[in-house]
Amino acid sequence: MKSGELTEITSNAGETGEKNTSSRYKILLADDDGSFRTLASHALGRFEYDVLTVPDGLEAIKRTTSQHFDAILLDAKMPVIDGFEVCSKLQSKLGDHCPPIIISTGLEDDESVNRAFEVGAADYVHKPVNWTVLAGKLKYLLMPPSSQHQTNLLEKDIHRVISASTGAHLVLDREAVITAVNGVTALPHSATYSFKIGSCLFECVSRDSVSKILDGWQRLLKLGESGPVLLANHDDTNPYVLELNFVEFRANSILCLINDCTGHYLAEQRIFDLAFLDQTTGAGNREHLINWVNQNISALDVMENCAVLRGQIKNYFDHEIRLGRAGLDAIAVHVIDRLNQWCSEQNLQKYLGESTSGFVARLTEDEVAMGLVGNFNVSALEKFAQDLLNDLGRPLDLDANTILLDIELGLADSPHVGRNPAELLNAASLAMKVPNKAFSDQLFCFNESVREQIRLQANMERYLHRDIEQCQLHMAYQPKVDATSLKLVGIEALLRWNCKELGNVSPAVFIPLAEQCGLMSQLSQMVVQLVLDQLVAWRGTATGEIPVAINVSGSHLGTNNFVCDLARELNQRDIEPHLIELEVTESVMIDGQNRAIKNLQQLQEQGIKISVDDFGTGYSSFSYLRSLPVDALKIDRSFVQNIHVDPKALAIAKAIITVGQELSLVVIAEGVETITQLETLRDLGCHIIQGFFTGRPVMPEEVISEAESALFAAAS
Ligand code: C2E
Ligand code: CA
Ligand code: CA
Repeated sequence: MKSGELTEITSNAGETGEKNTSSRYKILLADDDGSFRTLASHALGRFEYDVLTVPDGLEAIKRTTSQHFDAILLDAKMPVIDGFEVCSKLQSKLGDHCPPIIISTGLEDDESVNRAFEVGAADYVHKPVNWTVLAGKLKYLLMPPSSQHQTNLLEKDIHRVISASTGAHLVLDREAVITAVNGVTALPHSATYSFKIGSCLFECVSRDSVSKILDGWQRLLKLGESGPVLLANHDDTNPYVLELNFVEFRANSILCLINDCTGHYLAEQRIFDLAFLDQTTGAGNREHLINWVNQNISALDVMENCAVLRGQIKNYFDHEIRLGRAGLDAIAVHVIDRLNQWCSEQNLQKYLGESTSGFVARLTEDEVAMGLVGNFNVSALEKFAQDLLNDLGRPLDLDANTILLDIELGLADSPHVGRNPAELLNAASLAMKVPNKAFSDQLFCFNESVREQIRLQANMERYLHRDIEQCQLHMAYQPKVDATSLKLVGIEALLRWNCKELGNVSPAVFIPLAEQCGLMSQLSQMVVQLVLDQLVAWRGTATGEIPVAINVSGSHLGTNNFVCDLARELNQRDIEPHLIELEVTESVMIDGQNRAIKNLQQLQEQGIKISVDDFGTGYSSFSYLRSLPVDALKIDRSFVQNIHVDPKALAIAKAIITVGQELSLVVIAEGVETITQLETLRDLGCHIIQGFFTGRPVMPEEVISEAESALFAAAS
């Protein structure tokens, strides 16, 4: 090569290599390819660069000692001394003053790219060179040092992060053509997408993902980054979720970071299942139902109704002995299946109109629910609920067992309750607890009368609480007389509540309420105190020698301290145990293992008498009487009052008396209102009579005179 050809200073203005006084940058280019040198000079000249070209590396090194350049472009492959060596020599020679060096390499020559960075090059370009890309890179490299420094750091950081990350990434050019890939083979189900160097990203993904990627891509071009783009396949066999993030990376390169979120997604799905689905039936749970209603009710359409049907399988657990846990699960699955059939689009349309949709949930083991949203009317809804209830009541065949489910439905709708699903659920449950007469005995609808009853009950609860605290309740006493002599042989203590606001409230009303709101044990203790104090007050009078019967609830009797508390109270007042009788209902007796029975046994051993109250209305299993601590049976007053009307009542009364005689139990008839009732009972062999005929419940001082007047009435 002639020396004249060694250097060519080129610029569009035809300037020479003298010190550049304009703001144009000076570039040194070393390449052994003459045509490339010419091309480069012209192309970069258009971008306002002055280019000095040299044909080899040694010349390039020489030039840098005499002249200042803003950047140097070195061909990787040159004879004698290649671009990499030149680069490293210049680095060590010029140190901090070395201008940024770009090395040009062959396409897809990844090894050269790595080497370029190793020897300290600031960047690289592929040959054939895209001049716009090169100009962009130069522009970046020649930025003022402060911003360049920052960008440099950033880029180094990015490099470090990427090489440290186990995640996958792609490098793309501005046409979305993939120029480098990393880690993509580790992505899940890569059969459904394939990222390959040289192909356009949009061709690598499924058709429905293209538009999502395009959106992200456009955001990237506008803002420099895309935000996350999700590629997902939710089918059960090949689920995957990839999160793609596009960021600008070096001039004209775009980095696509691929985050495999499949595991995360599956875990989330599992958490959702556990949090919102019933694991046995796959139906939604309470929260899911509430969310469903909230999501489906239109905020704009105020005419739209919603409703909740709540079903309780009353005999659900009764089937456990026969069918086991698996049987109970099968029942639940069956009920949910039926509800789902009733919730089908077609069926809802038929009953509740086109716009109605529904959702089935399992609330607890024995409780299910259906949420409904649509423009239905209340009477259509009630018809739907009644027909559903009838269907659920049909016998169910389960593994050769025929099962009848005893289901109650509570119904609450937005016209009565409002559109809050949690409140609808509550109202449906309250409707079952405070039944109203208007509906069948298994379908209960929430309406104004239920609301009124709830309000009354809430008030009553408040007053009862207050009056128990202040001991404002008192006892009435009803005589029990011998069926033949009509002499006073016992007294039953009956609780009375005269409420300031409500007047006299029947114990049949406030005692169940006290049970419901947890006041029963307190109330029961109060009764015991009042009665024992009364016995002390009667001491020395004729009444003082008569045994008094106290009604005790199962919940009080079943407490651990019942026996010793009563013994202590008796002791403190010096009262003989034979003066005390306890009246308990049959239901307390059925579970032979429970605490209440053990307590009764101990009480009986101490001399306290035990009567079974309301006998004949409960379980009436005569056989259990043999093994239980029982002294007396009280024939329920419903039999007594119908004894001349209903032959069945008479038969039951007879049977009870016979059983009592066989087991040597005292038999008491309660609710005796007429002399004919009394005579019939006496003739059947009943021992003791209690009722309005022989004496109403009265204040303590009147007990004796009541009994005497009964005696008088019977004699006359
Ligand atoms: P019970 O133990 O069966 O009490 C008998 C009920 O029948 C009493 O009603 C009494 O007033 C009523 N009665 C008595 N003779 C006649 C009659 O000839 N005709 C009619 N129609 N009724 C008669 P009361 O006092 O309203 O009590 C209702 C229920 O409340 C009681 O039924 C008992 O289960 C419960 N109860 C009352 N006092 C107490 C108590 O101190 N503790 C507990 N745990 N329960 C009580
Ligand atoms: Ca009683
Ligand atoms: Ca009774």
